[in-house]
Amino acid sequence: MNIRSQISMVFHLDKCIGCHTCSIACKNIWTDRKGAEYMWWNNVETKPGTGYPTKWEDQDIYKGGWEKNGNSVSLKGAGKLRGLKNIFHNPHLPILEDYYEPWTYKYEDLFNAPEGDDQPTARPVSLVTGEPIDIKAGPNWDDDLGGSPDYARNDVNFKDLSAAEQESLFQLERMTFHYLPRICNHCLNPACVGSCPSGAIYKRGEDGVVLINQERCRAWRMCVTACPYKKSYYNWSTGKSEKCILCYPRLESGQAPACMHSCVGRIRYLGVMLYDADKIVQVASCDEDQLVDAQLDIYLDPYDPEVIRQAKENGIADSTIKAAQDSPVYKFVKVWKIALPLHPEFRTLPNLFYVPPMLPAMASVDADGIYDSTTESLWAGIEKSRLPMKYLANLFTAGNEEKVKQVLKKLLGVKIYRRDVTVGDLSQEEVTGAMSAVNMSGEEAEAIYRLTSLATFEERFVIPPAHREESIEMIEATADTKGETGFGFKFKPVRGL
Ligand code: SF4
Ligand code: SF4
Repeated sequence: MNIRSQISMVFHLDKCIGCHTCSIACKNIWTDRKGAEYMWWNNVETKPGTGYPTKWEDQDIYKGGWEKNGNSVSLKGAGKLRGLKNIFHNPHLPILEDYYEPWTYKYEDLFNAPEGDDQPTARPVSLVTGEPIDIKAGPNWDDDLGGSPDYARNDVNFKDLSAAEQESLFQLERMTFHYLPRICNHCLNPACVGSCPSGAIYKRGEDGVVLINQERCRAWRMCVTACPYKKSYYNWSTGKSEKCILCYPRLESGQAPACMHSCVGRIRYLGVMLYDADKIVQVASCDEDQLVDAQLDIYLDPYDPEVIRQAKENGIADSTIKAAQDSPVYKFVKVWKIALPLHPEFRTLPNLFYVPPMLPAMASVDADGIYDSTTESLWAGIEKSRLPMKYLANLFTAGNEEKVKQVLKKLLGVKIYRRDVTVGDLSQEEVTGAMSAVNMSGEEAEAIYRLTSLATFEERFVIPPAHREESIEMIEATADTKGETGFGFKFKPVRGL
């Protein structure tokens, strides 16, 4: 075992209200400057929808992430060697139109326009060229299903949904959506790291935060292509790539990242996970139907004496081990198993997990727009949920519907348990049936309820004390003979920190 510590996150999607406060908090701190206007290190999408940049999930277009190659993986479209071949033309790179052309308004015209019969207006001007533009898209153009025919219908997660299922989602009375806030996943097997010909991207040894060394970046932009989540961005002004830094200066001073601190819905949780770095290759290259379980297996029990012993041997501080034991992420992901990785089939082993949405009402609507009222229960069965199970499975479990169902059943069990506690109008048969179906005790249901609904700031963000002074190694892409693996570890002392 080669035990490492990783800052990981959970976003509880049923709690997100789509207010975009997180995006603005991040923009104000990190990307409110020249060349970064179009960047949203944190963005919030509406699902179904095509997101930002448009259709980022469609790897037939962007060729991001890894593909299985026997017992290993190789980059889909952005390997170092392939990168050299594409040095003058990279067909898989998103262009500005795929994001949107950032703009402002000529506000001064409101004040300086000559007196006349017309109302003065502030025309939009491009923040790139300074010229007037016709606004055609924005970073959340399809917010709340706006422009559904052009956006939501093109969502790649509709793959494998029947035509009837797809059609039903676009009948006005049946429309349903949820929000999907996204930041860099600070992956265990980061494709951005594996693709960089300059070795400019690295994973910090002490907490796994993935960073781009601005001194070493040479504008290859392979990371932009390689990241399947499109969370590495090119700054056209500085000629360097940039990405979410997980607010590491804030973390190092014990504060939650800005997007998490400001989150209105309190959907965000952050904590340490211990994992076995020796298993990364094996997990990233396993069969698609095993990816979720294999990834969850890589995270270790921080209470296990053997894990503690080996973690200490690897230089992990006692305070980090304690933080791993108190981690809310560990509870959501490993203990309760109600948080899942986004698109595990990209094989980057993301460290941001999502509690999938049940949506406010469970009952589905029939063809005439009538809610199913045949059920005697307060909640209809999971199978009748408004978003087809296959859709959620395509988002979170590489298409495995059973896995999503298990999570939703557990979340439903918590609701039923709490209904019984607070209102008491359900039959005991229904309560015990729902709980035993997911093998959940009352204690566990209560714990899930408390961390979901009543958690304090300190319970949501368990930030380990910074240990830069003990940072014994950095993790980088190994420039091995194939030149394309991203999970290699190169140990070197960090000096002067
Ligand atoms: S590959 Fe993972 S770590 Fe790298 S930018 Fe994308 S999401 Fe972040
Ligand atoms: S601040 Fe929180 S609730 Fe608001 S959009 Fe962001 S993640 Fe959702």
